[in-house]
Amino acid sequence: MYLALALVNIALGAWASMRVPAAGRSARRLAFGALVAAATNLVLAALAAGWLSALPPGWRAHPALYGAVAYSGVLMLVTRTLVRRAPGRPWWPWAVVAALIAVQVIDAGWLWPADSALNLTGVGLVALALVWATLAARAVILIWGAYRATPQPLHRNRLAFWALVWGLVAAGVALLVLGLTPLAQVVLVWAASVATLTVVRPRLPDARRAVFQGAVTALIVGLAIASYAGLMSGLLGVDGNRLGLVPFAAAGVVAAILVLAVNPLFNLLERWLRWRVAGRRYDPRQLIGEYGLSISNILETSRLAQVALGLMRAAIGLERAALFVVDLVEVTPGAPLVNLSRVGSLTDAGPVAGTLLEDSPLTVYWRTEFEPLTQYEVDVDPRFAGLATAERVWLGQLGMDVYVPIYASKQWIGLFALGPKTSRHRYFDEDLELLSTLADQTAVALRNARLVEDLRRLNADLKTSNNALDEATTRLSQLDRTKSDFINVISHELRTPLAILYGYAQILTEEITKAGSAEHVQIVEGMSTGVNRLNEVIENMLDMARIDSRALQLAAQPVRIEHVVQKLVWQLQWALADRQLSLKADGLEGLPPVHGDPEMLYKALHHLVVNAVKYTPNGGSITIGGRIAPQALKGGAVEVTVTDTGIGIDPRFLELIFDKFYQTASSAQHSSGKTKFKGGGPGLGLAIARGIVEAHGGWLRAESAGHDEEKLLGSRFIVVLPVSKEYNISYPVTEPLM
Ligand code: ADP
Repeated sequence: MYLALALVNIALGAWASMRVPAAGRSARRLAFGALVAAATNLVLAALAAGWLSALPPGWRAHPALYGAVAYSGVLMLVTRTLVRRAPGRPWWPWAVVAALIAVQVIDAGWLWPADSALNLTGVGLVALALVWATLAARAVILIWGAYRATPQPLHRNRLAFWALVWGLVAAGVALLVLGLTPLAQVVLVWAASVATLTVVRPRLPDARRAVFQGAVTALIVGLAIASYAGLMSGLLGVDGNRLGLVPFAAAGVVAAILVLAVNPLFNLLERWLRWRVAGRRYDPRQLIGEYGLSISNILETSRLAQVALGLMRAAIGLERAALFVVDLVEVTPGAPLVNLSRVGSLTDAGPVAGTLLEDSPLTVYWRTEFEPLTQYEVDVDPRFAGLATAERVWLGQLGMDVYVPIYASKQWIGLFALGPKTSRHRYFDEDLELLSTLADQTAVALRNARLVEDLRRLNADLKTSNNALDEATTRLSQLDRTKSDFINVISHELRTPLAILYGYAQILTEEITKAGSAEHVQIVEGMSTGVNRLNEVIENMLDMARIDSRALQLAAQPVRIEHVVQKLVWQLQWALADRQLSLKADGLEGLPPVHGDPEMLYKALHHLVVNAVKYTPNGGSITIGGRIAPQALKGGAVEVTVTDTGIGIDPRFLELIFDKFYQTASSAQHSSGKTKFKGGGPGLGLAIARGIVEAHGGWLRAESAGHDEEKLLGSRFIVVLPVSKEYNISYPVTEPLM
């Protein structure tokens, strides 16, 4: 028998040592303890076989007791780990070893011959009992203290198991002292089994429940045996054949009575046990159904959290609980963090958010394990030993017992954190299973709610930026209007005094030409030129303002470009002669008339030719060409080109030059001469020309090989205008204002 017990011990030792990587030091110590117990049983077996008769009789007297005390020493070491005493070097293991050696010496009878007057055999026994009692008392104090101090039901449960271990060891030692060695050894192996289970299993059954279950099973078995025995003896006992029943039929009757009468009693007992031990008041199926119905239509995470947590509290009875949603954030590039933000909670206390490292054991667990995790596991499981301090502190602040992750399409999206139950019971496996099911049910609702919230946020953002855009547009158009108004007002206000100035200048010129000196004539002429130039600038500004405000009025009629150009040549003849420039018209005769306002078209071409004059050095030539361009516009078009042999334009600026107030030259180069080489101006000419051409339904663009004042690459401006439908109508060229 002892051999069989030794084998059980060895098996327990092997189990414990296999679990050393996961369960740590305690498992190693238990494996050692199992060796001690196995050795004790082997010695007992050898003694029983009469092999060790050579040993001193004292040694042969209590080997089992020595073994029990040594094993208790090992248990005491594990107890210290379980109650989470800070590691230190306790002195008492040495005291136990010393006491054991001392008792051996006494028992061997080396100090005193066995037949001397002083018989110390009993003393050894008493000393051993004392050493053991001290150990046990210390263990009980440690366990009780830790049991009261820990807030975690799972830790309390483990301690309850450990107390059971010590209880069994105490029973074993008592049986040893009473001399019932075989029974004692069985009890001690039982203690070793419970101890190993307690240390190596990460999740233990509930201690209270185990005890109750044991008691109820015993009760039920007792009841069954009693009723069965009573019935059997009643039916068959005294005179088995009195009723004329064959034994098989009798057994059938007994079975029927058992099923009909005793089974309901068992069921009742079981329900009572459940209520008593699990404190369970809910029906899981009903709860799951109700839960699904309640949350399926919710589209806000906070509301979802309130309803879900409320239902959980009503069913399980929770002191506190919270729902977190999971996001990946990247504060520093390349180092993503997992952000947990609380979207709902039963109490306001506790942190509202937390961050975990991407490679934190917690993140890894929740991403891959698909299972609830208890705070107790986080505390004792070596997998979580590498947890960052900040993360541990965060969990501490939460003060929760169980974490149930939520997954949508295998992706971790949320976390239920559940605090202690109001009943102070632990979370049972059924609770965890139920919570996992509820978490699964929550997943779809949570994902939908988050999507809807994201959409809402996006919508709000869009609205805000839309509003901002609207505001900016309004401001811009206001600004534009103000500018146009400004130009308009200024131009009009300047025009009247200018007309007066112009009139007087004319009179003065006439008077002084008649009577004044050459010097005076020159001064007055200068004045007239200035007034003319000013008038021109104001005219340009007014044109620009009209174009901007789309108020350009076109008196459209068939216009022959040839006539417009003739007028231009006539107007610019003095300037051309002054600058020694030749102006040629090429291919203008016979062109079909265009549909347009002759005065406006004159202005547009005037700006182009004046520019050609300005940007062509003395001695150059300007050509105004024309041709029919049927494809350029719908309904046919006439293309007019103004080509010069001037300084050319940088291709980068070919479009920019058409902008209002744009000039390539710096304003320092401005000169008062309108047709001087590189004379400059307000930068309105091309903008006005394009505005006019576009108002006619045509287009205007520039071409140039580049800007070079040495090579004189030249420029070309191309104007495309719609052909007039009525051909042969000529038109009178009106005289310009000046
Ligand atoms: P500005 O009053 O300065 O002449 P424009 O709008 O008429 O204003 O012209 C804008 C700019 O385009 C000019 O400053 C000049 O640099 C460039 N430009 C216009 N026409 C020519 C051309 N024929 N040759 C070279 N550059 C030109």
